[in-house]
Amino acid sequence: MTLEEMESLMESIGQPKYRAAQLFNWIYKRAILSFDEMTNFAKSLRQQLDNMADIGYISIEKQVTSTDEQTTKFLFKLKDGLCVESVFMIDGKRRTVCLSSQVGCALRCSFCATGKMGFQRNLSAGEIVDQLLAIQRALNVEATNIVIMGMGEPFLNYDEVIKACDIISHDKGIAIGKRKITISTSGLVPAIKRFADDGQRYQLAISLNAADDEIRNKLMPINKKYPLNELINAARYYAAKSRHRITFEYVMIGGINDRIEDALKLAKLIKGWKCKINIIPYNAIDEKQDPPSEETMSAFIRPFLKLNVVISVRRSKGVDINAACGQLYYKHKENNFILEVDK
Ligand code: SAH
Ligand code: SF4
Repeated sequence: MTLEEMESLMESIGQPKYRAAQLFNWIYKRAILSFDEMTNFAKSLRQQLDNMADIGYISIEKQVTSTDEQTTKFLFKLKDGLCVESVFMIDGKRRTVCLSSQVGCALRCSFCATGKMGFQRNLSAGEIVDQLLAIQRALNVEATNIVIMGMGEPFLNYDEVIKACDIISHDKGIAIGKRKITISTSGLVPAIKRFADDGQRYQLAISLNAADDEIRNKLMPINKKYPLNELINAARYYAAKSRHRITFEYVMIGGINDRIEDALKLAKLIKGWKCKINIIPYNAIDEKQDPPSEETMSAFIRPFLKLNVVISVRRSKGVDINAACGQLYYKHKENNFILEVDK
């Protein structure tokens, strides 16, 4: 529930508005699991709330920490028995949580483990926020940054994802700034335009992954519906409206999209544009494709160094715990968990 929804709930039982703000704080900031913990509420009111509402929470099905202890991956079980993944990552002072937006994904990108599952269902805003609360509780940490880069396509579940981000960023609750929350999309053109028109202040990342339609069609079937020129136009529209620096993600797969000519095409595509490019070395999900070599990656980024872009290589975190999108679930299904739980 948003604060406004809690206000209506309180109003419906004749309680003053400030009670809703207190409830919001208990639920999100203090992450309580039972109304009984709300010590500044009369017992009768706690009982009344307990009869009307439910503090839903997801349970930890599996929790694995990488050997360097910088990454912890969670597999959560939802009320209907389906599972989603989330990841906690430490990077300097940054504490980033990667959240899922759907169970599975309908878009079936060839390199993605989540895509292999197909689409199962959308997550509710509650289930999205709950991943964060459960991680903060389990590890006794406070996240500083959020990325919606887990399982699913967030823009195919636009309303619930935005609602979840609004709850996470609300200053009376978890209070993570909007600029510290990044939503990653595979490139749904109408939704990118809507995001721009709605004036959303969250950061946007677009999974580009190829700089020509032929390669992108093979990697991401959604490109047949929204080809690169339409996607780039939508991205420019968003960048102009929001004045945010957009991030392009580029999953680099050995021998597929890692050649110098691919780099030059990408440089041409974003010429004169203040944007960020994030190179993500492919995390192998089967034996068919490989990550690129270190030399290939450094050769690829060279043409960008003289352009007005920030280019970075995302060092794969948690490779030893299958922390890439959908991988834990995938292995879980295949091998009934090959990983040891490290709590
Ligand atoms: N559906 C959204 C967000 C979830 S995927 C999107 O596609 O942007 C988040 C990121 O993980 C995307 O950039 C995607 O390209 C990347 N990804 C998926 N599978 C991967 C793999 N096997 N190795 C590396 N990155 C991967
Ligand atoms: Fe879906 Fe994103 Fe995976 Fe593509 S990369 S299948 S859009 S989750």
